[in-house]
Amino acid sequence: MEKSIDTPGFAEKLIRLIYPAKCMVCDEIINEDSEVYLCETCYRLLPRCGRGFFKTPNIPYVDGLFAAFYYEHGIDEAIQTMKFKYHPRLSATFAFLLAEELMKEAILPDIDIILPVPMHSSKKRQRGYNQTELLAKELSKLLNIPMDNNILKKLRKTRPQSLLKREERLKNMDDAFGIANKDAVKSKNILLIDDVTTTGTTLNQCAKILNNHCSGRIYAAVIAIAEK
Ligand SMILES: [Zn+2]
Repeated sequence: MEKSIDTPGFAEKLIRLIYPAKCMVCDEIINEDSEVYLCETCYRLLPRCGRGFFKTPNIPYVDGLFAAFYYEHGIDEAIQTMKFKYHPRLSATFAFLLAEELMKEAILPDIDIILPVPMHSSKKRQRGYNQTELLAKELSKLLNIPMDNNILKKLRKTRPQSLLKREERLKNMDDAFGIANKDAVKSKNILLIDDVTTTGTTLNQCAKILNNHCSGRIYAAVIAIAEK
């Protein structure tokens, strides 16, 4: 795998003249040719998870969950920035870091297709983008695995999971997702992508609906896992 993000293009360099690139964790100004928005110190100190793909009883429909980092030490704030401010190079930075952690695995599962956890269409219209889609798109380029953002659909709006208790989370996400193209997942091994997971309810609901139509394995990867 080519382990690099494209070096900044002309437009990006112009933007960086006005707004210098900063480390996403400590705000230190970084080299303008830097491929990731991270200074060397913060890169070294990233709260890496290092657990590989693991099974957890909370998410029975997911064959293995991979988390690159713990949701702490600046990773949390950087993810919030990526969520709420349109910042494509931040998504690219996270995709690079996630790919880098994935490539440390001795044996990577065989993945045919990457599916981002969808956002409801009205929310995406309002925000202008889905940060998980941007992340999955960059990861797809780095891993050379196709990504499709038209297969999984969010059928109804839900409340932010982070504001709810565990029992409420389950109810909130119940039947919230659907599949637009069932044939596209039939015998595929799938990698679901989300930015953060806590109880895994969202990932499990996506995997549950996919499981009805897919005979392959369903894995999930996130940038960070928030431990309760
Ligand atoms: Zn830093």
